[in-house]
Amino acid sequence: PAAAPAAALPTAADADADAAPRVGVLRLLAEAKPEAGTITIATFFLFIAALANLAIPKIAGRLIDACTQAAAGQITAAAARALLDQNLYLVLAVMGAAGLASGLRAYLFNSAAERVMCRLRVRLFTQLVQQEVAFFDVTPVGELSNRLSEDTRAMKDAATTSISMMLRSLLTCVLGAVMMFITSWRLASLTCATLPVTLLMFRTFARLNKRYVTAQLTSAAAASATAQEVLAGIRTVKSFAKEGHIVRKYTSAANDILSWGLKSAVASGVFTGSAIPFAFGSMMVVLWYGAVLVLQGDMSLGDLNAYMLYAIFVSGSAGGIAGTAASLIAAVGAGRRVFQLMDRTPQLPPSGTLKPAGSPAGASLEFKDVHFAYPSRPDSWVLSGFSLAISPGQSVALVGASGGGKSTVVKLVQRFYDPQRGSLTLDGIDIRSIDTTFLHQAVALVAQEPLVFSESIEYNICFGVHRQVTQAEIEAAAVAAHAHGFISALPQGYASRVGEAGVMLSGGQRQRLAIARALLCAPRLLLLDEATSALDAESEHLVQQALQEAARNRSVMVIAHRLSTVTGADMVAVVQAGSVVESGTHSALMAAGGAYSQLVQRQVFGAGAGVEVQ
Ligand code: ADP
Repeated sequence: PAAAPAAALPTAADADADAAPRVGVLRLLAEAKPEAGTITIATFFLFIAALANLAIPKIAGRLIDACTQAAAGQITAAAARALLDQNLYLVLAVMGAAGLASGLRAYLFNSAAERVMCRLRVRLFTQLVQQEVAFFDVTPVGELSNRLSEDTRAMKDAATTSISMMLRSLLTCVLGAVMMFITSWRLASLTCATLPVTLLMFRTFARLNKRYVTAQLTSAAAASATAQEVLAGIRTVKSFAKEGHIVRKYTSAANDILSWGLKSAVASGVFTGSAIPFAFGSMMVVLWYGAVLVLQGDMSLGDLNAYMLYAIFVSGSAGGIAGTAASLIAAVGAGRRVFQLMDRTPQLPPSGTLKPAGSPAGASLEFKDVHFAYPSRPDSWVLSGFSLAISPGQSVALVGASGGGKSTVVKLVQRFYDPQRGSLTLDGIDIRSIDTTFLHQAVALVAQEPLVFSESIEYNICFGVHRQVTQAEIEAAAVAAHAHGFISALPQGYASRVGEAGVMLSGGQRQRLAIARALLCAPRLLLLDEATSALDAESEHLVQQALQEAARNRSVMVIAHRLSTVTGADMVAVVQAGSVVESGTHSALMAAGGAYSQLVQRQVFGAGAGVEVQ
């Protein structure tokens, strides 16, 4: 094999590290731009509600002052009563206004956040789907679906609840502090003296918690990826009775989440145990000083009462800020991961726009000295000097021991990856210059384990086409694929749903469904990855017949596992260690007595093949 490719290939991980965006909240705000109008109105209502709420302590102070003045004989009882009633009406009006403004604020913020999140989710999903295959080789699917569900949810929670609560708390804090100074600058100054200690406690906790919460989210994503993978493959797990093993694996992942959670719990315990008593203690000292001022006649009892209410408002809001900080920090972490994915540009160069017509007999395909290494393993060539030509209408069988590179050849024809060296042309045109949609109509694959979606049979057959098809076309494809019989026998025919991953269908039925899907595309080159798994004799026969029919009037490249397929092919290519070591017809290669004849003698084509040979 040729020398390993230089470290020129950037891996998906490198690219992601470069693209990691720094800002979370600012970026989220930028995403919220289309909702700027709604958010401005919501902020206006937020302001109104905060102002209205701050009027309450002032009014409460007036109630108390009316009583003390009446008790001291400064005003008559009747005048005091009139003052009390007046202030009651005022308080009712203020509360009504505050309620209305708060309600509107909540509705407007939440609806704006929902719309922003909906757009984000769709954009993230669109981005994910557009990533190149190599990206999915290195990124677990569970992690990606976690981004889509958990991370976007964390962001939405932050945007709907936390950000609006944070704004409200900040506003109440600032305005409340102003009112505290207006009510009594002496008490306010004393309160301020205790602030640095409180702030220091808060900052230390917030820093610690940010670290723990971020680490916990990363562990949670890993645990979710493990769970997703195992649940998707639950049949394999059960068939090996490995439930215990995977439960232990998940438990260890869950314990990882727990250990970060416990650290965060300790931090929050220390914070609650120190900062809160400190805050209460300092408040009592302020109350004592206020009482002294009242005794000296420097302050009215009503003002002291108003001051204390403002202090409670402000400290409550500060607590609110601390409470939302954790979920905001979580959201910033989630946002960072979401934006990182959203900003990732696919590493596969975009395709061209050519749509080669080619020969009516089928497509021609040519590999010329192709060298290829998977981006996830850039230092080992999987194909080295691979050359192969298929002329229109020809059928070519790829054979060879597993790991030789046959499936890789098929993936390159579908342009999941680009070769690092050499050329790959379809109808004489470089495959990179061909329009993607056109390419995937011209070339259709019937995979070994075809993917069946948990939708109707009809949906599954039509999945490959990009145009409107008639029921007659669908049925014609199914007839050609020998699938019409079993589909018609189902209670709802073509509308029958097939269960997740087609579990309600047999292996042979799934394959015939996949053949029908490929045929509906009317491909000019059919790629077949013959099933290695044993089908029962009846299914085997039907699948073989369907494939023979499907191969008519087009070029075919098949990864062959059965001798009958190989003997029927126009040409056999033996693939070993990433290149074609021998090619020709079955009989010519048998006569030559080389690698191919050895494969046949070793019965590489399975037990069934041995029987056929005799
Ligand atoms: P065959 O189809 O002949 O069995 P493959 O093309 O599947 O061979 O595999 C050829 C080599 O490429 C193997 O060594 C395999 O481990 C490696 N390989 C296959 N798929 C990937 C992938 N997605 N990432 C990295 N290496 C891969």
